[in-house]
Amino acid sequence: MVLKKLGLGLLILMSPVLAAKAQLKVSYEVSFKEPQAHYAEVEMDLSGVSKDYIDVKMPVWAPGSYLVREFAKNVEGFTAADGKKQLRAEKLKKNTWRIYTGKSSAVQIKYSVYAFEVSVRTAFIDATHAFLSPTGIFMYPDKQLALESTVRITPFPGWNKVSTGLPAVTGEQFTYKAKNYDILFDSPIEVGNQEVFEFMAAGVKHEVAMYGGGNYNAEKLKVDMAKVVEQATAVYGENPNKNYTFIVHNFARGGGGLEHLNSTVLGASRDGYATERGYNGFLNLVAHEYHHLWNVKRLRPVALGPFDYENENYTTNLWVAEGFTAYYENKFMVRAGFITPEEFVGTLTAAVSAVVNTPGAKVQSASESSFDAWIKYYRPNENSNNTTVSYYSKGEIVGMLMDLEIANATKGTKSLDDVMKAMYLQCKATGKGYTDAEFKAMVEKISGISFTNFWAKYVNGTDPIEYSKYLGYAGINVEDLNAGKNIPYLGIATRKTEGHIMISAVSRNSGAWTDGLNVGDEVLSIDGVPAEPVVEKTSSFLDKKVGDAITVKVKRDDRDMDVRVVLKATPNVRLSPSMASGVTPAQKLVLRKWMGI
Ligand SMILES: [Zn+2]
Repeated sequence: MVLKKLGLGLLILMSPVLAAKAQLKVSYEVSFKEPQAHYAEVEMDLSGVSKDYIDVKMPVWAPGSYLVREFAKNVEGFTAADGKKQLRAEKLKKNTWRIYTGKSSAVQIKYSVYAFEVSVRTAFIDATHAFLSPTGIFMYPDKQLALESTVRITPFPGWNKVSTGLPAVTGEQFTYKAKNYDILFDSPIEVGNQEVFEFMAAGVKHEVAMYGGGNYNAEKLKVDMAKVVEQATAVYGENPNKNYTFIVHNFARGGGGLEHLNSTVLGASRDGYATERGYNGFLNLVAHEYHHLWNVKRLRPVALGPFDYENENYTTNLWVAEGFTAYYENKFMVRAGFITPEEFVGTLTAAVSAVVNTPGAKVQSASESSFDAWIKYYRPNENSNNTTVSYYSKGEIVGMLMDLEIANATKGTKSLDDVMKAMYLQCKATGKGYTDAEFKAMVEKISGISFTNFWAKYVNGTDPIEYSKYLGYAGINVEDLNAGKNIPYLGIATRKTEGHIMISAVSRNSGAWTDGLNVGDEVLSIDGVPAEPVVEKTSSFLDKKVGDAITVKVKRDDRDMDVRVVLKATPNVRLSPSMASGVTPAQKLVLRKWMGI
């Protein structure tokens, strides 16, 4: 939106002659000569070139997935020509090519892309289909992200379908138009023989493109996915799309999703649809990614769009963009009737336990976790659990606490839903993303109370989560089943590698941490008992007491050694929720508003 406005402003200042001369046009054709070897052939045609040279660039990351992935690493065979005349091209940096145009005003660039990474944010091509994740396929002319482009797909012989959220060019088969590069890079394309079905919901035509088969029931999915769509739309009061495309990749074991403005890509397990757990897991994923069409794509942090495709785009607000989206999965699931209110509370309480039991939650705040996503969340190591907290999990809990605080402060008349809707409308009106201060101001406006303390504790701080207080607003009691039990624990996680029990993580401040067990140690025995039964049966050492010493024999760097570890008490909670007896009318109002049923 901002880019478009700037472009119009510039045009007014320029003379009509100059404006016409500077009219660069871009079109792409993607075809497949060797899909079995995982290659796409890309031709990028530029016309209206008016300079001596032109630079083209490949994005280094895919919005929604906050990691520099260096998509240019998969490019080969870059050439540029004007018809039969080859043009000189040189590589300036990792993702940038310069083409010396001479007197040519038309340039045809050709390159191949290797695509063999299965994920929702990377391209993948084989003999059965092509998934074109656009940031890894299309180059863009430098500083021309506002340009419109067209994309023509030539499917490999035997493939007969193309599924994408891009609008089709009428009268031209498999040809699509993108208004600007934020739209093109936000519109994945599935090419092959996917099963396609459609349903209407919230006045929007939804297309589901299923690759890979599976034991799903399309008729049932149409009904249930529509329920999710209706629940999400109800929060915002309007659905901004006319069309929406779900691209679903079904594998033996699959998962994950990536959000886009009017489409999403979902990973699923092809035989997972038949069990309640698997089916609800899929609907949860649908709820999550669909909700993103508002939360992050339109109701967005100010740093997330228009995008810089060459560098990290930093924001402290992924705890809203991702965490609240994770939180709302549960709200949509209970409102659509897929889970019971008890399951809703149980799921959220388990999520609280998970955050409380993460040592890194005492080190990293929700805003720091968001900012450092690029180097921490997306690049975890063996110590991550001690030093970081996921902005998904912490954000989910912050969302729940905020929701309950708003409902309590307004006597059950307002909730986080009202904040999300108001912020969406504000972003729509201004055409800009929100700052953290603007988000906080809206929460305070809707709730009528100050959230300064809340922000200091839960957004920018690492204070203990007062789950009993907040869930108590809704009449829910939370008991910690571990409280007062002084349960001994060692503080390691292990993984079995070729029959060896290897330490994969050591918990901060545990006995293992203090007395020096290391990640990578092979555990041979504990107090003379072979490791396997001990480590795998229990990590709580029920026959020991806190303060007891044990001897852990490990192999480290090919040498056996004994490590004496004094057991400490587990700091972990095991939370169990229940409805309080004698729930007050005020608590009932909060509970009803919170769940929205
Ligand atoms: Zn997400």
